[in-house]
Amino acid sequence: MVSKPLLSVEEAEKALMGFPVRVQKEIVSLAGAHGRYLAEDVSSPIAVPEFDKSAMDGYAIIALDPAPTRKVIETIAAGTPPRLAVTPGHCARIMTGAMLPAGADRVVMRECTEETTGVMRIIAEDANANIRFRGEDIQPGQKVMAAGTRLRAAQVALLASLGLAEVPVARPPRVGVITTGSELTAPGSPLEPGRIYDSNSPALAAQLRETGAEPLALGGVADSAEATVAAIASALDACDVLILSGGVSAGDFDFVPAAMKQAGFHLHFEKIAVQPGMPTVFGSRGEKVAFGLPGNPVSTFVIFEVFIKPLLLRLLGHVHQPVLQPVELTTAFRRSRAERTAFLPVNAGDGRAELVSYHGSAHLHALSRANALLRIPAGVSAIAAGSIVHVRFL
Ligand code: AMP
Ligand code: MG
Repeated sequence: MVSKPLLSVEEAEKALMGFPVRVQKEIVSLAGAHGRYLAEDVSSPIAVPEFDKSAMDGYAIIALDPAPTRKVIETIAAGTPPRLAVTPGHCARIMTGAMLPAGADRVVMRECTEETTGVMRIIAEDANANIRFRGEDIQPGQKVMAAGTRLRAAQVALLASLGLAEVPVARPPRVGVITTGSELTAPGSPLEPGRIYDSNSPALAAQLRETGAEPLALGGVADSAEATVAAIASALDACDVLILSGGVSAGDFDFVPAAMKQAGFHLHFEKIAVQPGMPTVFGSRGEKVAFGLPGNPVSTFVIFEVFIKPLLLRLLGHVHQPVLQPVELTTAFRRSRAERTAFLPVNAGDGRAELVSYHGSAHLHALSRANALLRIPAGVSAIAAGSIVHVRFL
């Protein structure tokens, strides 16, 4: 058997980054835009604030007016424009957010004043003008958000404040997930002898949703070449990306790479020098891409995080820059073979990280207790306790 070429992690990342993708746009209502990726730059249609306004409950005055007391000419509520201009010897009672009356150039906050029978006297120094001027936050036409930005609560708030009811966003890539393995049982059913629960379907669906993609649970197929080819063929129309879990290693029942080829996919690579997840397969057929992931749950999780997520984010118009945080490794690390780049579950915080006790790529319990991955480059076989390492938060 001819052994497959082993790509370094960097080469695999490069191959995936170089794969051409097309971002598809759609318009959605702001109410449905949370978690989506902006498909176009957004410029503000209005000034923010739209008009000079009071930042306090207080009295609008003329700052240089020497009058010791001022007659109150009206009360200005937020939402109702003032009717009168302020002139020397006069002031207007004004509420936070209300429009500043003509003539006034300062608001004295209520706490620094005293009012009796319609006459206001300043009783304490107020150093601030307490005015928010038109356009001081945003000028009309100013670019406020770049294409590729993920719309979280703060971004939704800003778009709403500009009066935008609809936003152009990237259409989430539809990602089909097929699990292979005759041993798999869906959670909720009793386990027959020799069988295990399918954790990769729910895990991948969750990772896809967190990424902003649309998961399509396509169910499981038994370990059969024909069934796998048929599952791939019938999945293709409905999805942009296909993820197959399991069946990519060298076992007697590992049919996925051959099935991908038979379904018309060109395989760009079939092996990465990574641990966990070495037998990862990446293929394409036209604009459709497919991944075959080793079935061990930590492998599936890590390969998604490191290799698939950046590609999906490109399909969403977003350039992924994983956050790498320098931390002090509190536990020593040692390995006997160092040919592969390793990703290990760690617990990081307060500038420190400790390795989580980890038995290998089936050890989901370890992964569930970690909040970051430590990337150990190929060639590195030991890291002393106390060293500074970079971790990637999950
Ligand atoms: P495979 O890549 O098919 O050789 O599977 C490697 C290991 O991962 C085996 O122990 C499988 O039972 C396990 N495995 C495969 N698929 C899943 C899955 N969907 N959920 C949980 N474990 C799986
Ligand atoms: Mg299998």
